[in-house]
Amino acid sequence: LCWVFQRQQRFLLWQCCAYALTALPFAFQSTAPTEMLHRYAAISCTLYLLGGWFMAKCWADHWRVPTQASVSLAIALVTLINIIYYNDNLLARVHISSAGIGLIMLLPVLSALRHRHSPDWLDKVLLTSAFVYAVMTITRPMIITVLGHSEFEKFSDSVYWFGSAMSTLFFAIFFTVLMAATAIRATIRQLRNERDQDSLTQILNRRAFYELAHCRLADKRLYPMAILAGDIDHFKRINDTWGHSRGDEVLQLISATMQRNVRGLDLVARFGGEEFVLLLTRIDLKEAEQVAQRIRFELRSDHSVLPQNAILTMSFGVAPIENAKQLESALKEADDLLYAAKHAGRDQVHVSGNNYPDICFEHTMPNPEVSASHI
Ligand code: GH3
Ligand code: MG
Ligand code: MG
Repeated sequence: LCWVFQRQQRFLLWQCCAYALTALPFAFQSTAPTEMLHRYAAISCTLYLLGGWFMAKCWADHWRVPTQASVSLAIALVTLINIIYYNDNLLARVHISSAGIGLIMLLPVLSALRHRHSPDWLDKVLLTSAFVYAVMTITRPMIITVLGHSEFEKFSDSVYWFGSAMSTLFFAIFFTVLMAATAIRATIRQLRNERDQDSLTQILNRRAFYELAHCRLADKRLYPMAILAGDIDHFKRINDTWGHSRGDEVLQLISATMQRNVRGLDLVARFGGEEFVLLLTRIDLKEAEQVAQRIRFELRSDHSVLPQNAILTMSFGVAPIENAKQLESALKEADDLLYAAKHAGRDQVHVSGNNYPDICFEHTMPNPEVSASHI
């Protein structure tokens, strides 16, 4: 039912298949007389193996590890051949099928243990319980050896069968709760990402920027900080010349370049159409200017999106933040400086406190190198 509403979370569907395929032979074996169990042993075992395989697929999908289909198929074939060979020996069949199913389920668990070091507690609980369940499935028939074989005339009434049913039911409910919790959490994370991220560039949007900026500003260890406001030069012309989708690629290139040039706690946001704002932490104005210049130079020398002779340029305004109350004023100052950089001819960085000649760009010829002249 969860999968019907959350189709992209395929592991829910595989879990459902696993339960259905295990429940069928379980129901049959619980109700059928013992002689019938012999006749349909291979079919029951096939369904159990398929159930185990879907459970393994569910976990593998969730942990993003390989499903190891060929190894599982080999285990299933060996199991089935042995089941057919030992068709008259119920005890052997129970051991063989349990080992086969358990091994198939163990495969993704071992892969996940090898490849994943998730610090997440829900993942850890799932991984541990999946490991316990797989090992328990393999070793469970040993209980028969402890209990003795006397009850095997009425296998489905035996203590062993009852114990198996109870433990399987317990784990089924446990995994359902766990996977449902995982699915709900994944959905909440996805919604949060959609709320906080700009869908085109995968960087923060304005709302998320303010929320996270207030967290950064509250941390005294992160001062001094700086705000960088950046705006693409003549972006409208880029759109008009090469189309809107090329313009979108430019926005993605700029976001990637900015993210590459900042540190872990810094924030990179798309504030509007082609306007970007960066909050840089533990940085003085000089270093902040260097970051802006580095981004500007990297964009100028990139020819992966625009044709060779066109140069992509950006203008920046840089303002300092010395305490938590300055966010709004710093944003305004960086924006004013950016505006001044545009007026001064674009493709430049204006920094707070510096004196720039007040040039009005309507009367200024564009720099022959900048994008305007090449488009
Ligand atoms: P200036 O150098 O003065 O900043 O000029 P400009 O052309 O960059 O600025 P202007 O404000 O005139 O144009 C901004 C353009 O950005 C207009 C709009 O079509 C474009 N734009 C806004 N959002 C997007 C988007 O998501 N994708 C694309 N491709 N274009 C966008
Ligand atoms: Mg612009
Ligand atoms: Mg603009």
